[in-house]
Amino acid sequence: MKDRKGIMAILSGFSGVGKGTIVGELVERYGYMISISATTRAPRDGEKEGVNYFFKTMEEFEQMIEREELIEYARYVDNYYGTPKEYVLEQLEEGRDVLLEIEMQGALKIKERFPEVALIFIVPPNVSDLKKRLIKRGTENEEMIRTRIARSKEECQYLTQYDYIVVNDDLEECIEEIHGILEAVHDTRENQRGHIEKIKEEFETFHI
Ligand code: 5GP
Repeated sequence: MKDRKGIMAILSGFSGVGKGTIVGELVERYGYMISISATTRAPRDGEKEGVNYFFKTMEEFEQMIEREELIEYARYVDNYYGTPKEYVLEQLEEGRDVLLEIEMQGALKIKERFPEVALIFIVPPNVSDLKKRLIKRGTENEEMIRTRIARSKEECQYLTQYDYIVVNDDLEECIEEIHGILEAVHDTRENQRGHIEKIKEEFETFHI
């Protein structure tokens, strides 16, 4: 069997559910690689180019689409968000596990192209908690918060397409649960690969 292959996993979740913190901890503790997205949204206070996002103008983003530099892209509220292709494919090739923190439309597009991707959705313990977190974050005005919560409500209809739903009630438990899922996915994929390669080899030498 060839060397370890990387897995691609998508972490989605309602706006304000704490995805950023969770992904940051997973990277810090377990060395997952993280895909940095391109977006036309303006940077929030403290956000850095090439760390949080690659911040693009509408024109630059559309050029990336034309040049087919994105694995997927989606419009979320009033902006474009997309995943640069080259970095993700390179990491997988190198045998590293890559996390994509992206919204649902993009996640489902990736699932069509890469059926082996693991889709994880993070939910809050309850909806009022979500609103409280968005208010506390202080990065969106009231109107924007309402739009984001309305969007979350719409997203509920697609939740069944995710492989795993994890509740972010206790942050620590949530991080460990996701890491556990990713390890299990990894083992399952390795196991499948082993069986598939073995049976293919047998067929190669089998006289029908
Ligand atoms: P925010 O503006 O809060 O940073 O992100 C808004 C939403 O866009 C979040 O749900 C986030 O996961 C999603 N998002 C971030 N990057 C990408 C991307 O590359 N593609 C897609 N489809 N969604 C993204």
